Amino acid sequence: MKYVSTRGQAPALEFCDILLGGLAPDGGLYLPEVYPRVSRAELDAWRELPYATLALRVLEKFITDIPAGDLKALVDRTYTAQTYRYCRPGRDAADITPLTTLEPGLHLLELSNGPTLAFKDMAMQLLGNLFEYVLEKRGETINILGATSGDTGSAAEYAMRGKHGVRVFMLSPHGKMSEFQRAQMYSLPDANIFNIAIRAMFDDCQDIVKAVSNDAAFKAKHRIGAVNSINWARVAAQIVYYFKGYFEATHSNDEEVSFAVPSGNFGNICAGHVARMMGLPVRRLVLATNENDVLDEFFRSGVYRPRATRETHVTSSPSMDISRASNFERFVFDLVGRDAAVVRKFWDKVDRGDSFDLRGTPYHARLSEFAFVSGTSSHADRLATIRHAWEEYGAMIDPHTADGLKVALAYRELGEKGVPMLVLETAQPVKFAETIREALGREPTRPEALEGIEALPQRVEVMDADAAAVKAFIAART
Ligand SMILES: *Cc1c(COP(=O)(O)O)cnc(C)c1O
Repeated sequence: MKYVSTRGQAPALEFCDILLGGLAPDGGLYLPEVYPRVSRAELDAWRELPYATLALRVLEKFITDIPAGDLKALVDRTYTAQTYRYCRPGRDAADITPLTTLEPGLHLLELSNGPTLAFKDMAMQLLGNLFEYVLEKRGETINILGATSGDTGSAAEYAMRGKHGVRVFMLSPHGKMSEFQRAQMYSLPDANIFNIAIRAMFDDCQDIVKAVSNDAAFKAKHRIGAVNSINWARVAAQIVYYFKGYFEATHSNDEEVSFAVPSGNFGNICAGHVARMMGLPVRRLVLATNENDVLDEFFRSGVYRPRATRETHVTSSPSMDISRASNFERFVFDLVGRDAAVVRKFWDKVDRGDSFDLRGTPYHARLSEFAFVSGTSSHADRLATIRHAWEEYGAMIDPHTADGLKVALAYRELGEKGVPMLVLETAQPVKFAETIREALGREPTRPEALEGIEALPQRVEVMDADAAAVKAFIAART
């Protein structure tokens, strides 16, 4: 399988060649040259497979440059009941992504049972094992530099901890993450993990990462890499649970389901789009945003009006506080019939801070062929939905999942009640205790094994927002 860039001006590469990089050299994102199709016979054969075996079946279609036995070992090592053990009481951790039925035809697909209690573990844990494998084969090492507002950074650290050839330098805004999130990240004892708290906002952390990465000499000398959400391997790993959820929620491969996905960078729902392109019987991909509703506007109107980072609303579903969804370019590439010249034209505008408008183009009519619908959710909606889930279904859900459920319920009111709806659970409530207290007037439940992690010793370097100081810190340790 070869990968091509959405901008059409980069060489086609194999999976392992795009694994460690970020953007394609032409500024685009890599995508498979063609989406592998899953035949009806394959779907039938996959229906009863345990998670790791299903993951291998899906991933071997995308990863053709790792020997089959090695890929199987990597996948088996990733998707274990031990790693995804933080499931709700009474659930079977061996299911990896258990399905909870809220009411007939409405389900919660639990993707947050990994070490950091957010769905990002589903892909990041695989990425950790893939990175280690490819680096070892090539005799290389990497120093991952990232910025996080909470979920991505911890998922990256737990995936990379103790991995040979990998160090992680993670910037976070000092004092801005929840106490639980700080404890998760800063209590890691591993020698290859470095936490740097910046006395500034998340955007400033991101600016520092950009400044360091733009220093080509420093980047090359210190082998700086990233694990950001445009990484194709992350999207690929996320495709698997769309298949798994489908099999769990249906009795036969004649049925269809819909998925509701709390969206930020469009990574999660992009995987759903690819699963559908592969032939998974998906009726709707229901995209949910919070107050940052750029994508909702696009799917309703055909106008894409990304906002400047500084105009991003700070909300109570912070992992969706994104105004320029990086993976969205992958979807638009498919929407315009994979015409890279059109993508270049659109992103010329986006990169200048402008919008693009599909109205009056043939692509606007094609939008409806791609199964997307969308909706948005506010702080009040979030609180009401957390209460509704708790009172009606006895399920405590986190604020992001609540955005997904809110939009799913609104959509179901419009019809298609006969089609099972799977709401993707993207984090556990304990990560966002403040909003749970506001909604329910009680403390969130947490996995027993994580009781008291706030009391563990923490390791973090606090610094001013100064790229030179961050560079010096990295240089002294690599
Ligand atoms: C990252 C994240 C999201 C958004 O996912 P994308 O792939 O960026 O669309 C939603 N909810 C939670 C809890 C997250 O951590």
